[in-house]
Amino acid sequence: MELCTYRVNITGTVQGVGFRPFIYALAERYLVTGTVSNNSKGVEILLNTDTLTFNQFLTAIEYEYPPLASIDTINHKELPYQPFDDFKIIETKEAGEVTVNIPPDVSICEECEKELFDPSNRRYGYPFITCTHCGVRYSIIYDLPYDRVNTSMKFFKMCEACEDEYNNPLDRRYHAQPIGCHDCGPKLKLMDTVGRVPLIPTDEIDKTVELLLEGKIIAVKGVGGYHLMCDATNEEAIATLRTRKQRPTKPFAVMARDIEMARELGEINAREEQLLTSKERPIVIVGERAPRPTGIAPNISRIGLFLPYTPLHLLILDKLQRPLVATSANVTDEPICTNLEDLEKLQGVYDYVLEHNRDIVNGCDDSVVMVVKEQQVILRRARGYAPVSIKLPFELKHNVLALGANQKSTIAIGFDNQVILSPHIGDLDSIGSVEYYKKNIETLERMYNFKADIIAHDMHPQYESTKYAKRCVGKRTLREVQHHRAHILGVMAEKQISGKVFGVAFDGTGYGDDGKLWGGEFMVCDYDGYERVAHLNYFKLLGGAKAIKEPRRIALSLLFDLYGENALTLNNPTTQAFSPTELKTYFIAWQKGLNAPETSSVGRFFDAVASLLDICQVMSFEGESGMMMEEMYNSSVVGHYNFGYKEGQIDVLPMLAEMLAESNTTIAISKFFHTLVEMIAVVYAPYDLPLVLSGGVFQNRVLLGLVIERFPKAIISNAIPPNDGGIALGQVVERFRNNMKEKND
Ligand SMILES: [Zn+2]
Ligand SMILES: [Zn+2]
Repeated sequence: MELCTYRVNITGTVQGVGFRPFIYALAERYLVTGTVSNNSKGVEILLNTDTLTFNQFLTAIEYEYPPLASIDTINHKELPYQPFDDFKIIETKEAGEVTVNIPPDVSICEECEKELFDPSNRRYGYPFITCTHCGVRYSIIYDLPYDRVNTSMKFFKMCEACEDEYNNPLDRRYHAQPIGCHDCGPKLKLMDTVGRVPLIPTDEIDKTVELLLEGKIIAVKGVGGYHLMCDATNEEAIATLRTRKQRPTKPFAVMARDIEMARELGEINAREEQLLTSKERPIVIVGERAPRPTGIAPNISRIGLFLPYTPLHLLILDKLQRPLVATSANVTDEPICTNLEDLEKLQGVYDYVLEHNRDIVNGCDDSVVMVVKEQQVILRRARGYAPVSIKLPFELKHNVLALGANQKSTIAIGFDNQVILSPHIGDLDSIGSVEYYKKNIETLERMYNFKADIIAHDMHPQYESTKYAKRCVGKRTLREVQHHRAHILGVMAEKQISGKVFGVAFDGTGYGDDGKLWGGEFMVCDYDGYERVAHLNYFKLLGGAKAIKEPRRIALSLLFDLYGENALTLNNPTTQAFSPTELKTYFIAWQKGLNAPETSSVGRFFDAVASLLDICQVMSFEGESGMMMEEMYNSSVVGHYNFGYKEGQIDVLPMLAEMLAESNTTIAISKFFHTLVEMIAVVYAPYDLPLVLSGGVFQNRVLLGLVIERFPKAIISNAIPPNDGGIALGQVVERFRNNMKEKND
């Protein structure tokens, strides 16, 4: 048969995932000659073969590509014939404009796990065993292309045995950049907190397990940062961790040895099991299975579980044979600690450090997901999921850097038809977190060799992200995107929707076009514009930002709306939560609108209800009131409360009055949830458009479940969080066709 030369170009996640050796192995199978190489767009293959074999070769690529790879496009072209002697892997060419994806960090693969526990294997018990199909990626990368010299593995010189594997295209570790072994790779060091002195020279795992069993708290260096770990069956150890971390009630995640152990702790359905055992290994929030120490998640019947994702975790849990509390090591409001220097700020919280000498280049928290009505809801998009590109249903006209919001911050860069969304960065409430935020921006820009034409940001003048946008704008164009519009646009972009939608944004607070704090918004929306068709009536946040932590302030303000000065003489859980003097002071503040910004936020309305029903007066962590209300919902309660709806204004006062007359808290809460669903039904009724839901309030499992039950076609995001972590994606796509209307400060 006649031989031809073909060129094949493949884009997608095709670098650092064993793609070239896979092609090499195919070339051996089909006895073809040619080359394979990485370039800035992906992988390029040159093949000398006949048409029939070429087609078989292409099919094999499409069906058999390596587990961590994903293919976006395959293009091929016939070229003038050129001869090759054999098939070769060619070293990476100099990258131009980088469009390949940065691979995320994934869990240890089955084959490596087998070798880890095989006494005859040379990597038996090696806590950093890895191969081309598993392990760390993003967290160790300084720069693209993804080669060892561009990672924190560059400081480790491979031994001969490792080098042989690294250079053998038929080996599972061919070009596995983080490859190493007992002789040449990273090593553990168990240290006390004070002197940084190694506690013992060897057997660090045994000693760590011994200390955990004694009830000690150990900071363990993981993939994207440190965890604080303690025995999850030891109530006293957990209580100590809570006291030292000053974290009274916010739930802790628990790491189980395997899915069997996880099942003893939680009620896990098929979809949840799939997520728990996936290569991304997120924390999955499931129903608890009593009994367990109450300290893990006080007052809450749900538990966040995850499985070991590194060989180090596996070695510890395999010896320990019991679950571990594993919470990110960070100072409140600060990003996750990624080195010993950061960790020192937590001195006094942990007793020992299990350290290793491979640097964490890019911090990355654990991801958190839950399943509601069979749908995956991502609460925190980080390790395993990020930074992965999201494909758009259209081409962007300009390069856009989107700076996200202020809480649960993420940033995004958009070019061509893709958006790269950073991992969860955190709240921008401290100098440390703002620095970390800037570092994330620089990292993405550098790795992708990205230059923005447009900087998209939130409208809130006080957000750190807005201030950053204004400071760094230079010659670039600024584009303000309303917060809730960005929420809805994010879902549209993820779901590749191109027409108009009916968006419901139930949220905490976000800056509105009128300068008020929105958060209960109904909008008809597409990429070019939007109309706010309805919203909750404004109510006042007494004390401004303080009201966000104190549900009682919001409830009091609504009582003033309802009863005026007469509210001062009421005797209910909300008024009891204040002294008589405070009540009078707040009445004046309410009357005069002093330090009392107006809001239409459903999230804040949740808080008010929690106070009125005496579920929560002051919160110790964000979202606490909603979580406690989830607990008290009873699906056998029927009916809802009344509310007013006229000219796009939803009046919630009638429902509050009815609720106050209800003596049974469970009935009141259940009817409250039903009323929110009814509100959506009433406002949405006249519209024949897809229903899109977003905003932090939809993290509420009960509310989301009820809305999906009522509207099975409702569209929610599955790849980005409904909370402010999804804002950056929405900001990228706003008015993507047009830059005429943009304003340049
Ligand atoms: Zn592996
Ligand atoms: Zn080695």
